Amino acid sequence: MQEKVNLDFLIKGGTVVLPDRVTVADIGIQNGVIVEISPMVSTPSKEIIDAQGIYVMAGVIDSHVHINEPGLSEWEGFQTGSAALAAGGCTTYMDMPLNGLPPTVTVEAMNLKLKAAEAAGTHVDFALWGGLVPSNLDDLELLADAGVIGFKAFMSSPGDTGEGCFKEVDDVTLYEGMKILALKNKVLAVHAESEEIIVALGERLQEHKGRRTPRDFLESRPLAAELDAVQRVLLFAERTECPLHLVHISSPQAVDRIWEAKRNGVDVTVETCPHYLMFTDEDVVRIGALAKCAPPIRGHREKEGLWERLAEGKIDWIASDHSPCPPHMKLGSEEDYFAIWGGISGAQSTLELMFDEGFLQRGISLPLLSRLLSEAPARRFGLLPRKGRLAVGADADLVLVNPDSPYVLQPEDLLYRHPQSVYTGRSFRCRVILTMSRGKIVYKLEEGVGAVRGGEWLRSNPAQMLKRRIY
Ligand code: ZN
Repeated sequence: MQEKVNLDFLIKGGTVVLPDRVTVADIGIQNGVIVEISPMVSTPSKEIIDAQGIYVMAGVIDSHVHINEPGLSEWEGFQTGSAALAAGGCTTYMDMPLNGLPPTVTVEAMNLKLKAAEAAGTHVDFALWGGLVPSNLDDLELLADAGVIGFKAFMSSPGDTGEGCFKEVDDVTLYEGMKILALKNKVLAVHAESEEIIVALGERLQEHKGRRTPRDFLESRPLAAELDAVQRVLLFAERTECPLHLVHISSPQAVDRIWEAKRNGVDVTVETCPHYLMFTDEDVVRIGALAKCAPPIRGHREKEGLWERLAEGKIDWIASDHSPCPPHMKLGSEEDYFAIWGGISGAQSTLELMFDEGFLQRGISLPLLSRLLSEAPARRFGLLPRKGRLAVGADADLVLVNPDSPYVLQPEDLLYRHPQSVYTGRSFRCRVILTMSRGKIVYKLEEGVGAVRGGEWLRSNPAQMLKRRIY
């Protein structure tokens, strides 16, 4: 006798964002997987979610999040960080290897990271980046085999977080490391700023002239520092054939150089972050400490240029670079802006920012936004077709967005360890109302995050990783 099979969830009548179009449809979910998408699903369901007038999108995949555990749990942690991500519509995040002690530069450290994740629990799925630092060339292969999604390197100092902290690479380490990663077909993510330029300019401004204001900080990290590092690492990628990903690119000038390299066959992708699309240097001066980051937020021309490149498909994806710290590290006189810790806390707002500013205000299409927020990173890291888009057979990782639910973001809305963000006080027209991870509701606006933290570690599967550019 055939057993009657019911759906676990039926999401009814939502405006569904598919890879190639937006359409009103029902979505049937069973055992954590999407089993039906059609104008009218008639299979009986245990629960029905009425989504009329609501947008349904693939869950955000945030490839750039600093969770800081183990070692610096007071900055951010798996539990609080993943709660904030779930509330922002994110269903998979990738933890960056620095700002934890020890940083993820050996398999031993990676296992400590996994232990911390297991102890805290995570509301949604996650993957781990490993690090490339001057001391660990011999560890790269082992880390790759252990399942890191890719590697991160800094061309400029990431800042001192204590003994054993993450260090920037010299050019030789970078080049040698990329040769090893090319053989393992692992993506190297690079923070591209010239250490030589920013150290020299920073010292000159601070020591000789005593200048330490936000403006001086911006002046100490000019566009030339980003462009110099981008060109250098693009050259190394061309020579080594190492898959390269440029993180948090702040300028259209850098995007253009990366695009040109890509057209010439270099295996490279590029991300930018919401803060480079939402703010200008004037805002940094006005906002102060909460807007300090590196590379710094640029001028109006750069901001608008990034939006143009994004609309043209020249930026591969958006990541938050959620980089929180305890509030006291963001205090201090604005007159000594160099001493304030850099990093922007914002992962909970990524989708709402892009939906509001990108779609509602600037008319960027939702399939493109969904590609930028979910599909492109999923593809790059071998998570497609399981994750990254709404499709039959994919994990039921999705988010419901009310396009007409205006609110002003308050600290009490934030689920980070420290409820501070550069986006508090901002008006949003849209709002994430529900997030589902593998068919389980992990966040509801009225109820907050669920009690169960069932997020899983996604080991990278090198066999699935694409070798060539993604468009
Ligand atoms: Zn970062």
